[in-house]
Amino acid sequence: MTTVLAVANQKGGVAKTTTVASLGAALVALGHKVLVVDLDPQGCLTFSLGHNPDRLDASVHEVLTGDLVAKDAVIPTEDGVDLLPATIDLAGAEALLLMRPGREFALKRALAPLLDEYDTVIIDCPPSLGVLTLNGLTASQSVLVPLQCETLAHRGVGQLLRTVGEVQQITNPDLVLLGALPTLYDARTTHSRDVLSDVSDRYDLPVLSPPIPRTVRFAEATASGATVLAGRKNKGAQAYRDLADNLAKHWAGSELITFSAGSA
Ligand code: ADP
Ligand code: MG
Repeated sequence: MTTVLAVANQKGGVAKTTTVASLGAALVALGHKVLVVDLDPQGCLTFSLGHNPDRLDASVHEVLTGDLVAKDAVIPTEDGVDLLPATIDLAGAEALLLMRPGREFALKRALAPLLDEYDTVIIDCPPSLGVLTLNGLTASQSVLVPLQCETLAHRGVGQLLRTVGEVQQITNPDLVLLGALPTLYDARTTHSRDVLSDVSDRYDLPVLSPPIPRTVRFAEATASGATVLAGRKNKGAQAYRDLADNLAKHWAGSELITFSAGSA
């Protein structure tokens, strides 16, 4: 059975794209066949996986509008994940989709013929709660919410959880909210931990383990065009490997390992 996971938070800069690329590469290392989907018109995932969005002929845009089957837009990457890339054209998809019946189902329908070929599909949602994110949530079995551990991290979480609830009621009753993933986490400060326990209490939201520590290496990786995890021994890369292990075991039937901020 293929697992489809959406990574969503309407706030930008919380490490959605980094999580999709790193978790995808870590799952490939565990032997999974992985497809990642770039649903952000800015194409950051596409770029970070070594493809220039300006030089692509086919992208998720043509797939969502029905002009191309998904298989014909998928490209390989050096990280071993397959990529359904985005270009700036996707910015226009929102308006085009709005005029169509079943607009929330365009991605789910497009991915259906591909699912047999993959163990895991991970969808990088844009920083909004518009029709593209609704497509991502509608096409998925579960959703993971990266949360930057800073003051006011929780602003917008309530709105996101309401959207997830509406998707569960209207377009995707089977959608499971896996939980929040702490990102840019600084274990040395009590502040990060306080923010986490506040968010998990306030929204009754599971917090996934392990938290992803802040490290300078991620910013460098994107700039140099290097593969996201290959040869990386830093704490951030290791945290994504541990997260991949946790999720892979969970999808195989084990209980999800959650993080207790109090015991950190
Ligand atoms: P989003 O997709 O939510 O907008 P990104 O994944 O693009 O967020 O990350 C935003 C910025 O934070 C990027 O410059 C990225 O390199 C950086 N970043 C992400 N994760 C980490 C980390 N663990 N440590 C340091 N920088 C990070
Ligand atoms: Mg992003």
